[in-house]
Amino acid sequence: MKKKLIIIGSGPAGLTAAIYAARASLEPLVIAGSTWGGQLMNTTEIENFPGFVEGIKGPELMNNMIEQAKRFGAEFIFENATQVIANKDKKTVKTYENEYQADSIILATGATPRKLGIPGEDQFYGRGVSTCATCDAAFFKEKTIAVVGGGDSAMEESTFLTKFASKVYLIHRKDEFRASPIMVERALNNPRIEVLYNTEIKEVIGDIKVKALKIFNNKTNEVSELNVDGLFLAIGHIPVTDYVGETIELDEQGYIKSPDGVHTSIEGVFVAGDVEDHKYRQAITAAGAGCKAALEAQKWLENK
Ligand code: NDP
Repeated sequence: MKKKLIIIGSGPAGLTAAIYAARASLEPLVIAGSTWGGQLMNTTEIENFPGFVEGIKGPELMNNMIEQAKRFGAEFIFENATQVIANKDKKTVKTYENEYQADSIILATGATPRKLGIPGEDQFYGRGVSTCATCDAAFFKEKTIAVVGGGDSAMEESTFLTKFASKVYLIHRKDEFRASPIMVERALNNPRIEVLYNTEIKEVIGDIKVKALKIFNNKTNEVSELNVDGLFLAIGHIPVTDYVGETIELDEQGYIKSPDGVHTSIEGVFVAGDVEDHKYRQAITAAGAGCKAALEAQKWLENK
C-alpha cells in the first residue's frame, strides 16, 4: 500500500496533523499504535485545552479528534510502528503485522514521562500521582504534596504548585540540583517549599488516594513515612523513538532532531509534538506542532 502521507502516533500532535492533512485531501494513514491516544488517555479532566469551558476528559478529547480526522478521510490502523526506513525518495514504515510505503511521513510518537518504578506508583496514578503539574495542580488546593526530581522541571513544577498547595516537599536523591541556578533560587526562596535532599522515594502508600510516601535518606539510611496528598513526578521524559533506528537523526537526549520543530534530517519526514519538544509538552502545543507538520508535508508534496 502506498500513501501520500503516513502519520505515526495518535496523540494531539498526530491527530491534529491527521485532521489538517485529511482536509487537504492527502488521505493520510495514521499508524495509531495499539494503545492509541497518547498521554492524555491517562488524564482525567483537561481544563486548559481552549474551547472547553467546563473542561473535557482526556479520552473524550482524543476520541473526538479521531472522529474529526475520519470525517475528512483519514484512515487509522491500530498497529505499532517498529521501523522507519526513509530517504528523500522512498519511505517505508514497518509494523509487527505489515509494511507501508509513503511519499512523506510525520513522526508524532510523543514521549513518556519517566517513572520511579516503585510500588504504588502505577496503582495511584491519576489518584494522587501525576506527571503533569500544569494539568493537575488545581486538584491540590491547600493540600500537602511532594515533587520528585532535581532538574528545571522539578523547580518549575514545585514553584507553580505552591500557587495551589499549602506545602510542597521537593524530594531529590542528591544533595545538589542540576537545574539552572535561577530556578533553584526561586524554589529555595519559596516559603511553601521544603527540600528533602539525599532522599529516595521507595513506595507510594494510600487507600483510594495517596496518603503518604515511604522515603529513604541515602546519607543516614533512615527510612520514614511522609504524609502527602499527592506526588508529582518531574524526573524527565523518554521520547518514543525506538522505531527510527539509525535513519533519522536524534539529539543527544534521544529526541528527534529538528532545526525548526517541524523538519527532520530526512527530506519529506516531518516531526510534531513531544517526540521533538523538550520544553513545553502541552496538548495544545503538540496540536499546534501537528498542524505545522501537516502544512509543511502538504507543501513538500505539492512541490514534489
Ligand atoms: P532532567 O533530565 O534535566 O532532570 C531530571 C531530574 O530527575 C534529575 O535531577 C535527575 O536526578 C532526576 N531523576 C531522574 N531519574 C530519577 C529517578 N529514577 N529517581 C529520582 N530522581 C530521578 O529533566 P527535566 O524534565 O527537569 O528537564 C528536561 C529539559 O527541559 C532540560 O533541558 C531542562 O532545562 C528543560 N526545561 C526547561 C524549563 C525552562 O526553561 N523553563 C522548564 C522545564 C524543563 P539526577 O540529577 O540525580 O540525575
